[in-house]
Amino acid sequence: MDEDRDSTAESRSCDLLLTGGAVITMDTGAQIFEPGTVAIKGDRITAVGLESDLKHLSAKRVVDCSARAVIPSFVSAHDHLFQNAARGLGEGVDFRVWLPEFMMPLAASMTRDEVRAAVTMAAVEQARSGTSAVLDHHYAGTDLETTIAVADAVESVGLRGAIGHGMGREQPYPEEEQLVRAAEAIDARPAGSKVEIWPAPGDIIYNDQDFVISAVELARSKNVGWHTHCSQYKTDADVYLAEHGTRPVIWLEKAGLLGPDAHIAHMIFLDDEEVALAGERKTGIAYCPVSHGIFGLGTMRLTDLVEAGASIGLGYDGAVAGFRNDMFEQIKLAVIIQRLQSMDPTESGPQQALTLATRGGAEFLGLEAGVLSPGLLADITVVSLDGPHMTPRPAPIPAVAFAARSTDVEMTIVGGEVIFEQGSCTKVDEQSVMEEAQGRATDLIKRLDLPIEINPGRSR
Ligand SMILES: [Zn+2]
Repeated sequence: MDEDRDSTAESRSCDLLLTGGAVITMDTGAQIFEPGTVAIKGDRITAVGLESDLKHLSAKRVVDCSARAVIPSFVSAHDHLFQNAARGLGEGVDFRVWLPEFMMPLAASMTRDEVRAAVTMAAVEQARSGTSAVLDHHYAGTDLETTIAVADAVESVGLRGAIGHGMGREQPYPEEEQLVRAAEAIDARPAGSKVEIWPAPGDIIYNDQDFVISAVELARSKNVGWHTHCSQYKTDADVYLAEHGTRPVIWLEKAGLLGPDAHIAHMIFLDDEEVALAGERKTGIAYCPVSHGIFGLGTMRLTDLVEAGASIGLGYDGAVAGFRNDMFEQIKLAVIIQRLQSMDPTESGPQQALTLATRGGAEFLGLEAGVLSPGLLADITVVSLDGPHMTPRPAPIPAVAFAARSTDVEMTIVGGEVIFEQGSCTKVDEQSVMEEAQGRATDLIKRLDLPIEINPGRSR
C-alpha cells in the first residue's frame, strides 16, 4: 500500500506547473484549454488539460499564467545568426549586389570572437522572442573551431537545433577539404546532440552537382540533416536551366536528394512539377517572409506547397536586413504576404501561420516538440495577453499570431529549463552580451570600410 501511495504521489508531482492560462496545444485539432494547465517533469511535458481536471497535480514551482497564452515555442527554420553583427546594413540594396559585394566579404573577414559575439546576441534576442530552436546556416569562418564556437554560443543561451556548416564555391578551401572539415564538425556534435552540426552547401543554384551530392551523402552517412538555399531569386531557375539543362528541384529529385532530411530555404520560384515533387517527398522548406519582403524577392507558393505535403517552418534568415529577430513579425507577415499575392483574405490565416512557427518548425527540424502534449519535449513559451493592444482581447490564436509581439513573451522554456523570464535570459548576462556584440560589430564595420551604398543613412 505504502509503495502504491508513493508511486501515486510520484506521478502527481512535477517540476513545473503552468496554470490558469489559455493553453494553445497546436495539435491537429487545434485544441485549446482555457483556463488550462501544463505539467513538466525533467525535459518533458507530463500532462496538459483543463485546470479543473489537473488540480491534483503538485509541483516544485507553480507559475500563474492567467491572462497569458501558453504555446509550443517557436522554431527558426533558417538563419544566419552571425549576420547579427551587421544589423541594418545594406538596407534597400538589391540582393544580387548585397550578397556578393557586402555579405560575402563581411562573412569572410569576421574573426571567431566577432562571430561568437554576434551569434550569442542573436540567440538572446530569439530566446526573448519565444524561440527554442534554430537551424543556422553558418558560412562566416568554416574552420572546425569557429563552427563549434557557433554551436556553443547557441547552446550557451539555452537554445537547441543545428548549425549548418557552410560549404561551396565561396569557401576558401578545395571541395575535398571542405568535405573533410564538415565531417569533423559533424563528429564534434553528432546526431542526438542538443545542437547538432549539419553539412550546408550554400545554394543549389551556384554549386557543382557532384559536390552537393557528396555533402548529402556525408549527412546521410552521419544520420543528420542537411541545409541549403534554392530558388530564392527570380532568375535562379533560369540560371540553373541554362547551365544544367534542368530546373533545380527536378534535378534534386532525379539525384535522390529530396526528402525530410533536406532542409531548403526559400523555394520561391518553383513550377507546378517542382511543387508536387517537393511535397511528395515531404521536403523541408523554410519560409522567410520578412527576408522575402525586405529584399523584394517574391512570394513562396505556401498554400500549394502545404497542400502538396511539404514540411514547412518559418525562418528569420538573419537579422541583418530584417532588423530584428521577432517571430511574431514573421508569423503575421507570413499571412499578409500570401494575401497580397492572392488578393484573397481567406488565403492562409493566423492558425496556419502559428502552426508553421511551432508544430511545422518542429516537424521540419525533426524535434519531438511543437505541440503541447504529454511525452513531448517541454519547449514552451508563455505570452502575455494583457495590455492596450490586447484590449478587448481577441480569441487566443489570433491574439498570439496577429496582436502579440516579442515584448509580450514572458517566459521561454527549452526542455523544461527556463531560459528567459522576468525580462532576462537566465543563462547569460545580457548586458555583457550586448556590450561585446556592439563593441565587436563596431570594430568589424570600421575595419571593413564599407562602400557608401551599404550605409543605411543613405537608404531611401
Ligand atoms: Zn539564407
